[in-house]
Amino acid sequence: MNLKNPISLAITMGGAHNSKAWYIPDVRIEPVMNERFMGSVEKGGFVNFRNITFNPHGNGTHTECVGHVAKQVYSVLDCFENYFFSAQLISVTPEKTNGDNIITKACLLPFAEKIKGKEALIIRTLPNTEQKLNIDYSNTNPTYFSLDAMQLIVDLNITHLLVDVPSVDREEDGGALAAHKLFWDYPNIPFSKKTITELIFVPNQVVDGEYLLNLQLAPFVNDATPSNPVIYKI
Ligand SMILES: [Zn+2]
Repeated sequence: MNLKNPISLAITMGGAHNSKAWYIPDVRIEPVMNERFMGSVEKGGFVNFRNITFNPHGNGTHTECVGHVAKQVYSVLDCFENYFFSAQLISVTPEKTNGDNIITKACLLPFAEKIKGKEALIIRTLPNTEQKLNIDYSNTNPTYFSLDAMQLIVDLNITHLLVDVPSVDREEDGGALAAHKLFWDYPNIPFSKKTITELIFVPNQVVDGEYLLNLQLAPFVNDATPSNPVIYKI
């Protein structure tokens, strides 16, 4: 394995790329400006000193924990004792049903033997276009997971699930979040250390197979936080 060859699966925020969902505005990066201070060198300040406004679920790649659906406040940071995991990258074509694109058990079953024994599962949906780097998923009914697909992921003992869609559940599901809850077995298990990472992008030149995953997180105490999943070919 070559540690000098990292592959980031994160969609960057505030620069050339901008992937968002849930009717959230774009990430805003603005200089602090008040009577005492000008946070822009271009505008005459001494330093650049900018505020960043974003929503971890709505803007860019993020990792979330059961705190997303639980009554209690849980921090995704408490899910981690280490940040390196064995991972399997697979590419799947969702099934089309009544206008929905769904990742079903049948989509995942052919990969079950390869997934077995891995801590993390990385799913790239096909077609995989660079549109995913600059898309507003709001009101587009994006690809989601069927419950039998999620049950298979649970049965395969996956601890960290990474997907290139904005949610494992349907955009409009009446608030059920059934696939999220199935993954975390919530509320049967109040706090699970399993995580879901959404809105990743797996570049096309990255081939399916086994990787070492380094899941890097911004240290916000919240149910979700921006993340940078970095993989290394084994
Ligand atoms: Zn989310």
